[in-house]
Amino acid sequence: MSVLPGSNLPSGPQFTVEAPSGAGPEAVSVGGFPSVSWQRQLAEAIRSPAELLAALNLTPDVATALGSADHEAGQSFATLVPRSFLNRMQPGDPSDPLLLQVLPTEIERQVTAGFVADPVGDAAARRAPGLLQKYHGRALMIATGACAVHCRYCFRREYPYQDEPRQLQDWQPALREIADDSNLTEVILSGGDPLILNDDRLQVLCEAIDAISHVERIRLHTRLPIVLPARVTQGLLTLFTSLRCQAVMVVHANHGNEIVGDCREALQAIVKAGIPVLNQAVLLRNINDTVEALEVLCRRLVNIGVMPYYLHQLDRVQGAAHFEADTALGIQLVKELTTRLPGYAVPKFVQEVAGEASKTAM
Ligand code: SF4
Repeated sequence: MSVLPGSNLPSGPQFTVEAPSGAGPEAVSVGGFPSVSWQRQLAEAIRSPAELLAALNLTPDVATALGSADHEAGQSFATLVPRSFLNRMQPGDPSDPLLLQVLPTEIERQVTAGFVADPVGDAAARRAPGLLQKYHGRALMIATGACAVHCRYCFRREYPYQDEPRQLQDWQPALREIADDSNLTEVILSGGDPLILNDDRLQVLCEAIDAISHVERIRLHTRLPIVLPARVTQGLLTLFTSLRCQAVMVVHANHGNEIVGDCREALQAIVKAGIPVLNQAVLLRNINDTVEALEVLCRRLVNIGVMPYYLHQLDRVQGAAHFEADTALGIQLVKELTTRLPGYAVPKFVQEVAGEASKTAM
């Protein structure tokens, strides 16, 4: 989740749309039932705070109380919420934990000391256009700047996606860099969200990586199975299971209310296809900062074969200070979780510190 200098182009994951606009409304879901295609669902996503609040029957006075009445709060990092995610929010509840993750508020414009544009050192880690390396043995490709949802705490909300490759030929320097370094045994597709690429573009990119013989694993960092579960089609699963490399999927859910309905089915389909699925969550104040909330999240994940991987201390990106919970609280919560859940169901509480050789255990 990623930082950089301003330009006259807007920054943030919202400015690259990779999904084909001509896609038809019908598709076949992983369950074999006709469903509205993920591209159509993305096109129909909510794109303003007013629309989001109205859909939840929240009145203008509630909008004022939440600090979301001023739409300018959403202008530099626009509102984007798929209706599947909306459907998992409680109408009439202004403190719904899913709503609070995606509703722009005026407090985002507040400047807070210690909160910066690039909290995790992405700029310093750039090895080639679109290619970052922070840790031994793996490198990360910024596969796209687009996402299906705009999480208000995103550490890449200031990332200069406009500077990164979009076409396969633009990826050649990064692919050569990977091919020339036999220490790189894992390539992470990130962004933005790599699953926003359509299957054809994703396949071309994955096959180019798969052709590099020393790469053993391709890891996808994605929130689409959580916020836009229709993206998990049989075609997508076949793409990943047909690769020589082992595919690994790391999804991002923060609250147990996300792991229900179509999201649950999509995650189960990925697991049943034989692709390991891990979850990383972010500790978020007033959203999941209780042991009860984290326990439900972890139980719902392991019950469908998704392993809790990391609980991240918030990356200190500008505009997200109001989401930060105390580190001491996070440590205490994970300690309490270990008394409630088997060890394999408890995520590691970590922070990404710029320049460190690995995530820092808290
Ligand atoms: S899905 Fe990930 S990259 Fe996209 S806005 Fe959310 S946290 Fe950021």
